Amino acid sequence: MILLNPGPVTLSERVKDALLKPDICHREPEFFDMQSEIRQGLVDVYGLDEAWCSVLVSGSGTCAVEAMISSLVPADGGLLVIENGVYGERITDIARVHGINVVPVHFEWGEEIDPARVEAALVAADGITHLAAIHHETTTGRLNDLTGIGEICIKHGVGMLLDGVSSFGGEALDWEGWGIVACAATANKCVHGIPGLAFVVCRRDALATACEPPRTLYLDLPTYCAKQDERGTPFTPAVYCYYALQEALLELADQGGWQARHGRYCELAERVRAGLAGLGIEAYTPAEVSSAVLRSYDLPEGVTYELLHDGLKKAGFVIYAGQAGLKERIFRISTMGAITDEDVDRLIAAFADILSA
Ligand SMILES: *Cc1c(COP(=O)(O)O)cnc(C)c1O
Repeated sequence: MILLNPGPVTLSERVKDALLKPDICHREPEFFDMQSEIRQGLVDVYGLDEAWCSVLVSGSGTCAVEAMISSLVPADGGLLVIENGVYGERITDIARVHGINVVPVHFEWGEEIDPARVEAALVAADGITHLAAIHHETTTGRLNDLTGIGEICIKHGVGMLLDGVSSFGGEALDWEGWGIVACAATANKCVHGIPGLAFVVCRRDALATACEPPRTLYLDLPTYCAKQDERGTPFTPAVYCYYALQEALLELADQGGWQARHGRYCELAERVRAGLAGLGIEAYTPAEVSSAVLRSYDLPEGVTYELLHDGLKKAGFVIYAGQAGLKERIFRISTMGAITDEDVDRLIAAFADILSA
C-alpha cells in the first residue's frame, strides 16, 4: 500500500528493517547512546548551534505541540495564536485546557495570514509573551509565509512557538529570522520515521523561562530535557520508534538533508499536480502558496470522496479527505515518504480509470 496521507508515511526498506533490531531496555547505556545520537541528529537537520537542543516525547505530533505550549508559556505569560486551519485552532484549544491566557487571531481556513491584523491583536492584548503559528497548515496544504510574522515577534520581543509538525525536514525554516524559540514536530512525517515519537527543537534559554510550577506532569519539557541531558528518561519511551527515527535521520543525511528532500517533494508534488490537471482536476490551494509536502484538490464534479478513495485503495493507494466543512469539497495528497515517480504515474492512471468508469 502506498500512503499518500500526511503521515504515517510509506516507509523505506531501510527504516522498516531497523525495527527488527534487538530488544532494548530504556535504562541501559545502549539506549541512552541512541537517544543522544537522535537528539543531536534532530538539531543537525537544520545546522543549529549549541543554543538549541531537541527534547524527545513519546506520542504523536499533537503530544509535542501540547508539551511545547503547556511548558513554555510562563505562568504569568500570554499566547497569541494564529489560526487558519484545524491545527491553529487546536493550539487555541490546548492553551485553554491548560488555563493559559490565550488570544486567537482567526483567519478562514486556507486564508493568507495578514501580518497587520496579527500585530494589531498583539498590541491590543495584555501580557503576550509568545506567539503560536502553524508553518504548514495541513488542513489545506497552505505553507504559511512567516517572514512578516517573525519580524513582528522580534520587534515586540515575543517568542515564536512553531508547529512544524508537517514541515520539519521538508521545508525551509528561518529559525533566527522568525524569532523561533521552539518548534514541535514528529518522527513520522517529513523525517520518514514511524508514529509514536515526537520532539520539540527549542532554545535552551526558552526552557529556563518555562512555566513554574509546571502545568503538566507528563508533558513538562524541562523535566524531559533535564533527564535526557543526563542520559536518562523520566518514563518508558517508545523504544522501537527510536530505532526507526535513528535510521530515518541517517537516511535523511545520506540523501542530502532537508534541502534535497524538499527538492524531491517538489518534483513529486508537481508530477501529481500536472497529472491531475490533465484529467481536469484543479488545485484547491494554488501551487504557489502550497507546501511541497501536501496539496489539496477540488473533488471533480459528481465524484464523491468515497468513490475516489475506495477506487484508489483498490489500486493500492490511500489518499486523504478534507476535514469538517472541506469534506465534501476537497481531497488531499501528500507525497512524503518513500514514493517513486512510477508510484505517481500509477496513481494518475488509477485516477483516470475511476473517472472514466
Ligand atoms: C499531523 C499534524 C499535527 C499532529 O497530528 P498527530 O495526529 O497528533 O500526529 C499537528 N500539526 C500539523 C500541522 C500536522 O500536520
